[in-house]
Amino acid sequence: MISQPEALEKVLATATHFGSEKIPLLESLNRILAEDIFADRDFPPFHRVTKDGIAVNSQALENNKTSFKIEAVYAAGSPQGILNSLENCVEIMTGAMLPKNCDSVIMYEDIEIKNGIATLQTEVKPRINIHRKGSDRQSGEKVLCKNQRISAKEIGVLATVGTSKVLVKKLPKIAIISTGDELVNVEETPLPHQIRTSNTLSLFAALQKEKITPTLLHIRDEKDIMLQQVENAIKNHDVLLLSGGVSKGKFDYLPEIFEELKVEKIFHRVLQRPGKPLWFGKQQEKNVTVFSFPGNPNSTFVNYHIYFIKWLTKSLELEDLKSEVILNTAVDANSNITRYLLVKTNSENGEIKAELLNENGSGDLISLANADGVIILPPEKDFEVGDLVEFVSF
Ligand code: AMP
Ligand code: MG
Repeated sequence: MISQPEALEKVLATATHFGSEKIPLLESLNRILAEDIFADRDFPPFHRVTKDGIAVNSQALENNKTSFKIEAVYAAGSPQGILNSLENCVEIMTGAMLPKNCDSVIMYEDIEIKNGIATLQTEVKPRINIHRKGSDRQSGEKVLCKNQRISAKEIGVLATVGTSKVLVKKLPKIAIISTGDELVNVEETPLPHQIRTSNTLSLFAALQKEKITPTLLHIRDEKDIMLQQVENAIKNHDVLLLSGGVSKGKFDYLPEIFEELKVEKIFHRVLQRPGKPLWFGKQQEKNVTVFSFPGNPNSTFVNYHIYFIKWLTKSLELEDLKSEVILNTAVDANSNITRYLLVKTNSENGEIKAELLNENGSGDLISLANADGVIILPPEKDFEVGDLVEFVSF
């Protein structure tokens, strides 16, 4: 049996790139950019008027002129206008190009217009209310970086530089497989000896957050059927996430089946709780990574976050942002086991505190729903109130 840090290191060592693909801009939310993005023109692309009002030449203001004959009206979206006489003004709207011979914009709030003449109502400054060409970014400057996650804000930037198709990292094709003769579907009424499957659905939902839509599969605890179905799943996916069937039970066939299907065992069993029977391996020929989680709902869910999410983060070349929280309960050392404890976090005076939740063992998925994540407690150490410990968020 190996230690938790060793197990994690072995998992991360198998991180894989899946290449890139071009997708429509509006489908790229939450995906990872696979290229740097550059400004295709200056931003703004012209001296942009920022107030509705009149545009004048500053010489007139400096000569203390206070009323201006209106020569023309220009809307946003019309080609650049012109002021013919520097004594006069043109009416201009927010978003329009600053007209030729103008360098100052005075907003309607500061003028009164009567009979085609605009008169200042207050003292105004020259050369204001203009967003200068190229003052945000110049053509060719980098505006977004490769390996950035695309949020709604990045969608706006991609749109403004004309990226209608975005090059993003490809995501792995994943199958979620539950095993166990006691499991029935959510829409069924379980018999007294049966339960509804929940792991597959919570992992499906968790993967949707990563923009991955996995295949769902349930396999009965029958060796021949299992062998055939796992073999099929290996053919069509990059990653298998299995739950159940890897412990020491009489019907826990998965380890034997992986061996028969030439999935190389990288480790089986880790000094950790929950999730001691975790099995991890790789089918080298088909380049398929196999995470086989013990079936208890909390084991599956916690180990998915501890191992699979960190593996995916590395595979997509994202930064693994480690976070720490402050313990608000003392915890005694235990043997050589790394523990994952469910916590609720809350922020107090800028610090994040972790409150331990009561959990009725690793089958208690209803307590899991109250948790914001787990803290990772390394073995053989006492923890005191105020200690900083690693936190993995759900
Ligand atoms: P196993 O790892 O197959 O020994 O399963 C351990 C426990 O987890 C058993 O009580 C199973 O009934 C339960 N379990 C296994 N798979 C699931 C699942 N997909 N949803 C909910 N519970 C499960
Ligand atoms: Mg089972």
